[in-house]
Amino acid sequence: MKFRVDEIASVIKQEIAQYQSEIDVAQVGKVLEVGDGIARIYGLGKAMAGEMLEFENGAIGQVFNLEDNSIGAVVLGDYLEIKEGDTVRGTGQLLSVPVGDAMVGRVVDPLGRPLDDQGAIDSSHRRPLESNAPGIAERQPVDEPLQTGIKAIDSMIPIGRGQRELIIGDRKTGKTAIAVDTIIDQKNSDVICVYVAIGQKESTIAGVVDVLRKNGAMDYTIVVAAGSSDPAPLQYIAPYAGTAMAEYFMYQQGRDTLCVYDDLSKQAAAYRQLSLLLRRPPGREAYPGDVFYIHSRLLERSCKLANQYMIVPASDPPDTRPTSDTKIYIGVPGKVEAEEDLKKLDSDKHEIRIIPGTGGSMTALPMVETLEGEVSAYIPTNMISITDGQIYLEPDLFFAGFRPAINVGISVSRVGGKAQIKAMKKVAGSLRLDLAAYRELEAFAQLGTELDTATQRQLDRGQRMVELLKQDQYGPYHVIDQVISIFAGTQGYCDDIPLERVADFEEGLLKYVRDAYSELRDGMIETLDLSDEASQELKEIIKDFKKRFMSA
Ligand code: ATP
Ligand code: MG
Repeated sequence: MKFRVDEIASVIKQEIAQYQSEIDVAQVGKVLEVGDGIARIYGLGKAMAGEMLEFENGAIGQVFNLEDNSIGAVVLGDYLEIKEGDTVRGTGQLLSVPVGDAMVGRVVDPLGRPLDDQGAIDSSHRRPLESNAPGIAERQPVDEPLQTGIKAIDSMIPIGRGQRELIIGDRKTGKTAIAVDTIIDQKNSDVICVYVAIGQKESTIAGVVDVLRKNGAMDYTIVVAAGSSDPAPLQYIAPYAGTAMAEYFMYQQGRDTLCVYDDLSKQAAAYRQLSLLLRRPPGREAYPGDVFYIHSRLLERSCKLANQYMIVPASDPPDTRPTSDTKIYIGVPGKVEAEEDLKKLDSDKHEIRIIPGTGGSMTALPMVETLEGEVSAYIPTNMISITDGQIYLEPDLFFAGFRPAINVGISVSRVGGKAQIKAMKKVAGSLRLDLAAYRELEAFAQLGTELDTATQRQLDRGQRMVELLKQDQYGPYHVIDQVISIFAGTQGYCDDIPLERVADFEEGLLKYVRDAYSELRDGMIETLDLSDEASQELKEIIKDFKKRFMSA
């Protein structure tokens, strides 16, 4: 065989062009200085922001600052073991955590390492801590309720799947209690929950895990914990880690998920600490300028994903998945288009189906602690503007025994009635306004003036409604039971019951309906509606029960 010289030359040139050095020196650096969970590293010329690093002693780090001659990194582990001059390896990958079914029921740290005593976690999937939020076209409007089981919330501040509802209030006002009850209530739904504990005492976190376990809620819950004694970098990344774990279920399995971030003021404080140590310029309240962005990019990831549709022969089994040449229609415009296409086909033999594994959601319940009710501080105002509503808890109400201590007047859900079942919409429509009117009257009545009967009646009604909306911890109500209670209140059946007996009346009534009229209750559960006939029947039942109750 003979080669022409120019052919040989071109082969050699090609080889040279494709030549890659096996040893990539740019991937190894040296620690210049280390302290307070921060390391300055020389070398790593190709490092990217957010890249995962490995220190000589096995500790994991993350690139934070890219500077001219060095990089600033945070150490996610024991920095006391790291010495000046240690080598640091760049991994070329963004920091990621294990995700998947194996995580459910576990208590893990923000790197996904187990903190409970149930052994190693065998998970084949990983997701980067941070990923882009889905765009508008990939989303659909929020209109499916996420029941919390808390009467005051489901009736007046309803939360939808895919919504972000802020829980805000001073210390010890029952913020965690609301989130924990919501998680417990998901026992009756198919929602996967992630509880992210940030900067809390280890004993408090253990208490929450204990409550979840006792109530059977760990069967569908992941707890991500970064305690107050954990280094600031771990506290800072905890919410992103929890979100990545929930995202797996939303994107891969089309599941509905719930993420609780308890709480983001502590995460912001951890971020401030890191930023100051890395000498980023401090701004308002000494937070760095991008503190808004750490929360907005986190909460943008909660959403309701659009359904994807396909047209398949009606005889195909229900779990049919699209093949590479199946036409996929996304979201509401896609569905319309699919309907058009279906008309062109033999529509008896074909049908439109939602593609399995699409249309998942992530609901977020971020928390923020206020000082003396100061909602206009930096972090609270940021959070209020990022979320779709807030549940505002007040110490005054809490100590007066109104628990959950929700100030209905300034709590809102911007998704509103769209995320309520029909029956609740019917009975609770005017509840919020009635309560606001009552609060005003109440203030007036305290002046001790003579009241006319109409005003007195309004006061009585208001007091009974407030009484009905009180609720103990760990006892979420089925939404239909909530409807029955509120119906009894708004229809005036409680008005002449002594205040201190209202709770007993409610409990008795619900039990009575459950035991003796389960058909009516089951019917409501099935239709999620309160028909005119059902409402007539319910009135008779309540009257009947009230007679027994008053004579008892
Ligand atoms: P922290 O600022 O410590 O995070 P927090 O705002 O999360 O506090 P919780 O820990 O939820 O508040 O509640 C404070 C206390 O109030 C707890 O002892 C809790 O048991 C009690 N509590 C909360 N909600 C209720 C309720 N609905 N009924 C009775 N007690 C409640
Ligand atoms: Mg708390």
